[in-house]
Amino acid sequence: MHHKIFFYPLRFNTFRSIHNYSVSLPNLRKMASSNSAKKKGPGHWSTGLLTSMEDPEMKVDEDDKCVTIKDKYPKAQYHFLVLPKDKISNLKNLNGDNVELLKHIHFKGQEIADKADKHLLFRFGYHAVPSMGQLHLHVISQDFNSPCLKTKKHWNSFTTEYFIDSERIIKQLENKGRIEIDTSSSETLLKKDLQCHICSKKLSTIPALKSHIALHCVSRKKST
Ligand code: AMP
Ligand code: ZN
Repeated sequence: MHHKIFFYPLRFNTFRSIHNYSVSLPNLRKMASSNSAKKKGPGHWSTGLLTSMEDPEMKVDEDDKCVTIKDKYPKAQYHFLVLPKDKISNLKNLNGDNVELLKHIHFKGQEIADKADKHLLFRFGYHAVPSMGQLHLHVISQDFNSPCLKTKKHWNSFTTEYFIDSERIIKQLENKGRIEIDTSSSETLLKKDLQCHICSKKLSTIPALKSHIALHCVSRKKST
């Protein structure tokens, strides 16, 4: 068991469209030869997180239950994903037995955020409709200072109810033994008008929004 943390420069790249897919990490190679792999198997973009979990360049931390990787297209100064080692494709596959695992993943996210910058404000949460297979907790600093954040969809996926706080998910799992997500409003949320996540000011373009949010100080004490 080791706890290495590395940080990384921002990378330029494109975002990808929304789909759902699940696959187990250890079975990646086996699937390469199976028929079911042809559509969304290894090599398909939606399995990219599983590949990154095995990539020493992407991995920042690992223990017996989970792996933390850098988000390949970070939408903020610090953006990590914490993934369970067990095969869990998405939130819908969770049950009451997974509460401790989700708490562990949350704790791991907090630990990574503290090591990245203990003064900067972070959020920890899940997308209502994830695009990538294998359950992943987003650990994202609230500066949203990244060239990879390019579209309204990117912005709204991290600043509207499309982003569900990890603590809320854990509570629901404890109370109900399963996660129910109302996906009917997801597309509407992603199309919402751009609005500052700190002062709620409306902005008409992504460049205007970025210039605006750069004026805020996003600290854990009090964002101003
Ligand atoms: P979502 O499935 O919408 O919750 O988000 C998936 C996240 O994975 C996005 O923030 C992407 O930038 C990120 N991502 C996409 N492909 C990879 C990859 N191969 N390795 C690491 N992160 C990735
Ligand atoms: Zn503002």
